[in-house]
Amino acid sequence: GDKPQGQKGQNQKRSEEAVTPRSQDFSKWYLDVIEKAELADYGPVRGTMVIRPYGYAIWEAIQTWLDARFKETGHSNMYFPQLIPYSFIEKEASHVEGFSPELALVTIGGGKELEERLVVRPTSETIVNHMFAQWVQSHRDLPILINQWANVHRWEMRTRPFVRTLEFLWQEGHTAHSTPEEAEEEALKMIHVYESFALEEAAIPVVTGRKSKLETFAGAVHTYTIEAMMGDRRALQAGTSHNLGQNFARAFGTQFTDDKGDLEYVWQTSWGMSTRMVGGIIMAHGDDTGLMFPPRVAPIQAVVVPIWKTAEEKEVVVEMADQVHDLLKSAAVRVKLDAAEQKTPGWKYNHWEMKGVPIRIEIGPRDVEKRAVVVARRDVPGKAGKTFGVSLDGLDGYIKDLLQQIQDSLLAKATAFRDSNIADVKSYEDLKSAISEGKWARGYWSGSDYDEALVKEQTGATIRCFPFDQPSVAGVCLMTGNPASEIAIFAKSY
Ligand code: AMP
Repeated sequence: GDKPQGQKGQNQKRSEEAVTPRSQDFSKWYLDVIEKAELADYGPVRGTMVIRPYGYAIWEAIQTWLDARFKETGHSNMYFPQLIPYSFIEKEASHVEGFSPELALVTIGGGKELEERLVVRPTSETIVNHMFAQWVQSHRDLPILINQWANVHRWEMRTRPFVRTLEFLWQEGHTAHSTPEEAEEEALKMIHVYESFALEEAAIPVVTGRKSKLETFAGAVHTYTIEAMMGDRRALQAGTSHNLGQNFARAFGTQFTDDKGDLEYVWQTSWGMSTRMVGGIIMAHGDDTGLMFPPRVAPIQAVVVPIWKTAEEKEVVVEMADQVHDLLKSAAVRVKLDAAEQKTPGWKYNHWEMKGVPIRIEIGPRDVEKRAVVVARRDVPGKAGKTFGVSLDGLDGYIKDLLQQIQDSLLAKATAFRDSNIADVKSYEDLKSAISEGKWARGYWSGSDYDEALVKEQTGATIRCFPFDQPSVAGVCLMTGNPASEIAIFAKSY
């Protein structure tokens, strides 16, 4: 199960020993790589985390890409306060019901009991609507297309670094439109932005679709999701986009006069991707020896390791290693030169492998004579992944091509893994056996909320989504035997 992670021993002296093999204990491997690769550390409050530079660099890669896409699609960044009057949360009935158990409240300020308790934002729909209601008058004020980069707090009971923390970083998009069609189009557009990020940057072949009613965001009409298969085959909800209809607009009086002069409530969306995605990238890739970052999000794309025995050798190999470093840097490759004296080349190989660096470049005295280097791929272990005698001339182009090849190959591998772990099921018996084998189960579904809850109770699996990619014909519900127009995907999730 999704066990609470203890906080014991975190502050013991760090050892350089190998990580727990992924094939042996996936959860332990995950916590090991986070610690040993210095991605994050635990905060003093249960469920909080410190994101260290190597982990934060991955979040920055996510931010940079998404932020550019948000702007291309017409959104502007802005910022709302983190403290929200408690009364705001109560205004939308299903929102307060969904979020109440997870709220952190501020009751004292400046040493005095506050007249009204304040909520530390778990998400900003309420405060956004409070402001939109003041800014929107006419249809000419619409659409409003904004995004904010922020931290949010949700008092989660089961936590895991990156995947589910009490405080996390995310972006939340909030939009208001004058027609329901426009809001629906926006919600779909943004889930496709997330899907592109997952495929193109994170090399994660997500399944994109619509959440079931039970799994829909508190206060939304529809929730769209990207679902990612992790290395242990659990599903990870890696980003969501909500069509909010007029629910928040009605609760907050966000109205406009349409072109006929009638007063109407706006139609809204919201959408978010969080630091959970960093956990997704870690858990989608990697092997027994450690992390394996897709080049496009890797904090370091290539590491240069000079090899020497004598002082004379050192001088020439380090000089060439410097040249290689500068060449790649000017070709916009994120490159690191590891010329540390205290560690052996073998130690460095293991270290950078564990840290998931896609390419290693080895330079020894004989390579210097040949003006060539040895190039090793992280994703192809051992001799098979090594190319000897790669010339210094054109090395920048060679490395850039290889980074692209590695990116493509990680996506292909993850896609093959996903496809071989989704079982098509026709009955509840089939579904139960697929789930007990650790697979995802895909089948026609028109069951009730009760049926869906029963599956969860009996198998631990939930409907991850009704994928957008649907068969062209209707079928028979695996549970009830009734006609069903859609297939759903069930899986155990994080
Ligand atoms: P939501 O507003 O609930 O749709 O959340 C937006 C996205 O944030 C989700 O799709 C998750 O990927 C992510 N998320 C939700 N809760 C957490 C959490 N406790 N820690 C990290 N990420 C989260």
